Amino acid sequence: MKYLDEFGNPELAHKLVDEIHAATTRPWAMMEVCGGQTHSIIRHGIDQLLPDGVEMIHGPGCPVCVTPLEIIDKALAIAAQPGVIFCSFGDMLRVPGSSQDLFAVKSAGADVRVVYSPLDALTIARDNPSRPVVFFGIGFETTAPANAMTVYQARRLGVPNFSLLVSHVLVPPAVAAIMESPRCRVQAFLAAGHVCSVMGTGEYPPLAAKYRVPIVVTGFEPLDILEGIRQTIVQLEAGEHEVRNAYPRAVRAEGNPAAMAMLDDVFEVTDRTWRGIGMIPRSGWRLAAKYREFDAEERFDVAGVRAAESPLCRSGEVLQGLLKPHQCEAFGKQCTPRSPLGATMVSSEGACAAYYAYRRLELVQL
Ligand code: SF4
Repeated sequence: MKYLDEFGNPELAHKLVDEIHAATTRPWAMMEVCGGQTHSIIRHGIDQLLPDGVEMIHGPGCPVCVTPLEIIDKALAIAAQPGVIFCSFGDMLRVPGSSQDLFAVKSAGADVRVVYSPLDALTIARDNPSRPVVFFGIGFETTAPANAMTVYQARRLGVPNFSLLVSHVLVPPAVAAIMESPRCRVQAFLAAGHVCSVMGTGEYPPLAAKYRVPIVVTGFEPLDILEGIRQTIVQLEAGEHEVRNAYPRAVRAEGNPAAMAMLDDVFEVTDRTWRGIGMIPRSGWRLAAKYREFDAEERFDVAGVRAAESPLCRSGEVLQGLLKPHQCEAFGKQCTPRSPLGATMVSSEGACAAYYAYRRLELVQL
């Protein structure tokens, strides 16, 4: 398959691994921001091919994982209301709220539907004009353009029974928050290529300069990640802290201007709480005032919903790169993908799920 198979070529991978070893003279710790990159690293054993002392720290870039528990509980409360059709991508259905998940609400009789696009939810709303239809719009800059387009279309087409439960988060403020932490060990970042395909690379040079960290925009296939790591180590060894693009087949410096214009029209920046991490100033998007009538939080009375995390779950430390998943005492015991205590064990991009899926036997013996 073009753009996949050739980016998993074993001979080229070995060549890049050799170049990484040749370039490395001392230990380094770098963070891959995106959960999709984490899964690729663990799945292909890339971290095990690196020189001793070169550590991959898994970042917070899993959209399901960082969606605040309070928003999950609001989703559960809205979905349970009579007459509501609650639409979501499938990976949100098993994310635990304070006491249950969307599957449980669905099995109790709620009309919860899995869709593959927010525009599918808009179609459902047009087909069911007498019923409120809510789409659960979460994620980073990658999923936001489609959600913005759906709200734009809802207003343009006049679909008043559609609304969006929105919890979008932004990567650059999270990078800054990680670097400001007194426990930060991160010396460089592999930036998420798909985020940059939307937003471009313009937000990163000030971060690289302020925190003196190399930032390399990186893709998701094995060769993409190895090349990102290679470019990062070359910079670290040279004492440089530049922004480089190791994913040029998908990312242009200016991003996607049409998508950015849609985002700018529909959303506005807001403070956002990240699950397990806490509030990061100006790290999210909410609907702009002229689209606020489509905000599910305004339309449904959920302001009083308060959430409580499992006391066993340490996903906040996992998401900040302070703890590896198997170092959580609940890993593989009280917490498994079948009975997750935290979102990082549920999501297809969660670090705990990656460790469970690809290193289960090895880690259970630890
Ligand atoms: S293993 Fe489970 S309980 Fe532990 S941090 Fe991960 S999601 Fe939370």
